[in-house]
Amino acid sequence: MYGQRPAGNGGKTQYTTIKVRLEPTAEQAELFEKTFGCCRYIWNRMLADQQRFYDETDTHFIPTPAKYKQEAPFLKEVDNQTLIQEHNKLSQAFRVFFKNPETFGYPNFKRKKDDRDSFTACNHVFESGPTIYLTKTGIRMTKAGIVRARFHRRPQNGWNLKRITVERTRTGKYHCCILFACRVKEPEPVVPRPETTVGLNYSVSHFYAADNGTMADPPRWMKQSREKLVRLQRRLSQMQPGSRNYREAAQKYRLLHEHIANQRLDFVHKESRRIANAWDAVCVRGDDLGEIARKLTCGNALDSGYGMFRECLRYKLERQGKLLIVVDRGVPTARTCSVCGLVREALGPKEAAWTCPRCGASHRREVNGAKNIKAQGLAQYFGSQERRASA
Ligand SMILES: [Zn+2]
Repeated sequence: MYGQRPAGNGGKTQYTTIKVRLEPTAEQAELFEKTFGCCRYIWNRMLADQQRFYDETDTHFIPTPAKYKQEAPFLKEVDNQTLIQEHNKLSQAFRVFFKNPETFGYPNFKRKKDDRDSFTACNHVFESGPTIYLTKTGIRMTKAGIVRARFHRRPQNGWNLKRITVERTRTGKYHCCILFACRVKEPEPVVPRPETTVGLNYSVSHFYAADNGTMADPPRWMKQSREKLVRLQRRLSQMQPGSRNYREAAQKYRLLHEHIANQRLDFVHKESRRIANAWDAVCVRGDDLGEIARKLTCGNALDSGYGMFRECLRYKLERQGKLLIVVDRGVPTARTCSVCGLVREALGPKEAAWTCPRCGASHRREVNGAKNIKAQGLAQYFGSQERRASA
């Protein structure tokens, strides 16, 4: 969604994505469908040939899309750029696989039913103008022409359109992610001070607890939508798959799922913006949230979005020269007394409050954790500064 890459001469290139809802005409939608199909086809053909070639010659090689056009003339009906992008994506998938096979699995064949349909096209700027650009009411694409789009924000001056990714959700809506690049000046680094630093502790019921005792509390409607989702899921499991009722309920389920994902994203963006503007540094724990989610919830829809929140915080802080300090997950932040430093042997999962047996301080579990995260984060930061100074 975002990223930064250092570039010489003082500044750097910053990327921003704007996501818009597309409203294609029937013809444009048909072209999109064709393009999705062609992208899947070319990916699978290239992958199959790569494997065959590797088996026969022990050499890694991916043929280019041009090779297939003779035998599959329908490929010529879609934007050639999108096919080239599939080649790039497959090459990239192999690059990361060769580098780190354990984290990134071997590239898979794409199947219609389990992959989200999408295609990507890069913008090329010719003397006659760019191939992809925004108009007042839509996006001009190669082959499809101007596709109507609903913009909730527009690019700023100096943003260059780099590429677009068009996708269809499982509920049948089309979206377009538009990637922009712009040159920005490196922000002045902000040195954290204890009074301008906040520690945040992940909380199942409150989203997070801060060291000053405030809680995030995701809006109540989020919880209500989730309860609705669980009810729908239960009902769905009692229906006959394939029946009309089932199909209707399944569509309802997917729509609600999508709605919750949007609500969550909205909440995460607003909350991370608020925190990143209010504080000079934020300390969090480097918890493996996937693990927590698996323990606590039944699937993606109930995921709190805390991992996403951390990533949003990181880049929103970074852009202001501020720091997200990640505390090692091995540090016992929950069972340490934030007043005297006593580390308890264990803390029961239900102990929401406890009193320190040594100094007598009474703690709310989540706030005490946040205090320790902040202290540990600052110690980590100043420790690394000292090491740098003495080196
Ligand atoms: Zn104590």
